[in-house]
Amino acid sequence: MEPMLCPNCKTNRTRFNLIEQRARAVKLHPQTGEIEHEYSNDTLDPFHLPYRGPDYRVQCAACGLIEQPEMFIKHAQHFQK
Ligand SMILES: [Zn+2]
Repeated sequence: MEPMLCPNCKTNRTRFNLIEQRARAVKLHPQTGEIEHEYSNDTLDPFHLPYRGPDYRVQCAACGLIEQPEMFIKHAQHFQK
């Protein structure tokens, strides 16, 4: 982890919720919405794009803002004590 500062309330540097984003690759039945198949990362079929988003997002536990970790990290770097 790196130092983080909330860009919204601008005071919180210590209390955060880390929201892990683990993608599940699934194939749904087009009519019922049922999961027909769940892929592991190395068994994706060629037409299925793997998730490339961030691993986690951050919620400020003081004001509730949810953002990418970069937002909090950049703010901490900009307003270093
Ligand atoms: Zn905040």
